[in-house]
Amino acid sequence: MIRRVVVIGAGFSGLAMARALRRRGDDVVVLEAAEGLGGNWFHGVHEELRLITSKRTTAFPDFPFAESVPLFPAGRDVLAYLGMYADAFHLNDVIRYQCAVESVEPTSRGFVVRHRGGSLEASEVVVANGHHWKPRIPENVRGFAGTLLHAKALRSLEVCSTKRVVILGSGNAGVDAVVAASKRASFVGWSVAEPTWIFPKTIGKRATVDWLQLPVPVRAQEWLLVRESLRRFGPLESYGLVTPRHRPFARHPTLSDEVLAVVRSGAAHTFPAVSGVSGHRVTFADGRSIDVDVLVAATGYDVAFPFFSGGLVQLDGGVPRLVLGTMVPGQRGLYVLGLGQPRSGAGSLLGPGAELVAEFIALERRIGRSLADSLAPFSPASADSLLVDARSLRVRIAMGRAFLRLFASLKNRAASSAPLA
Ligand SMILES: Cc1cc2nc3c(=O)[nH]c(=O)nc-3n(C[C@H](O)[C@H](O)[C@H](O)COP(=O)(O)OP(=O)(O)OC[C@H]3O[C@@H](n4cnc5c(N)ncnc54)[C@H](O)[C@@H]3O)c2cc1C
Repeated sequence: MIRRVVVIGAGFSGLAMARALRRRGDDVVVLEAAEGLGGNWFHGVHEELRLITSKRTTAFPDFPFAESVPLFPAGRDVLAYLGMYADAFHLNDVIRYQCAVESVEPTSRGFVVRHRGGSLEASEVVVANGHHWKPRIPENVRGFAGTLLHAKALRSLEVCSTKRVVILGSGNAGVDAVVAASKRASFVGWSVAEPTWIFPKTIGKRATVDWLQLPVPVRAQEWLLVRESLRRFGPLESYGLVTPRHRPFARHPTLSDEVLAVVRSGAAHTFPAVSGVSGHRVTFADGRSIDVDVLVAATGYDVAFPFFSGGLVQLDGGVPRLVLGTMVPGQRGLYVLGLGQPRSGAGSLLGPGAELVAEFIALERRIGRSLADSLAPFSPASADSLLVDARSLRVRIAMGRAFLRLFASLKNRAASSAPLA
């Protein structure tokens, strides 16, 4: 019987997974659709993007960024970092590029994975395809006659040069695009459809996300951020925005030191939701309308697994139903890694998360049946929000790993004390 794990995607998650599996001596093949590794940092960000997370929380725990990289690395620093990670742990020889996975079908022996250029048999499949690849563009702007781009396609800011630009969205990609566009466009409009908290990226000399890793209750963290936001920026109403009524961490937080200063300086103008477009004319919910050359939709992504047929993975409100956030119920050997949106950098959670999945795979092989189903009575499948409190997830991962070790050692003891037949 074949013993091979196929990992789909060579971004942060896929690389961490490949390393964890190789460390255990497993045979692993990483199938990557693009022609290079790095995922979002290879093909999803513009040339000037800086992270909102510090280099400390973004790095894998045992592989720090170089000293020379700034507190908030640039996108190209992350890409270089992931390249060094792959070199350091000899991952290059297991990655196959331009091998977009087209289908994953369960068989009696595991899975058949068909990709552009061939097919592979696998005993286990780990899906690490990310959740920033299927852009979501609102229906009511699709008829825009000028240049309509999703933020993912904004690879160079030249497209905004001397143009009248409107950015839709108040998440991190939206505020980043507003700041970047304001440096070269002739006019920047920022359409904020829903009241959004804007928090500073730094508090004192520290990155805000570093404060969020301290053992302080979530309510206290929220209070600190609201207080800092008010102290630094004043009320959002003074920028033409609306103070949200929802709790700060009810949505993925938006962090920026610059966007409100850009609005205050007059380099960007706030608007409510877009109510419609006609030709180059964009109309907003408050009745204002302006002529626009470029519309950038920083309006998020859908989670999708186009290679699964027949509802192999069930989505609930766009979020997959999984056991312990990684295992596909009813299946043996099928895992998903990297779907959470943590209030932390990627590597500090994905490194330990990948180790845990590698341990799940080893245990599942030993017990010879679906771990998802074995665990379902204790931890039923759920489609939790993608928002993740990084500190509590880290504790859950550590507890999960400790539990697995205990379980394995009890099994060993039982096996060694069993009478010989
Ligand atoms: C604008 C923006 C800013 C961000 N800022 C931060 C930040 O400051 N800090 C932070 O930690 N994170 C940030 N992120 C989140 C970022 O997504 C993660 O850092 C990280 O890239 C997630 O890694 P991943 O491997 O899970 O997914 P991805 O990086 O998306 O990698 C998935 C990989 O799977 C491949 N793939 C997809 N489908 C297939 C298929 N069918 N077959 C084969 N391969 C496939 C893709 O080509 C890609 O290489 C940001 C994201 C965006 C969009």
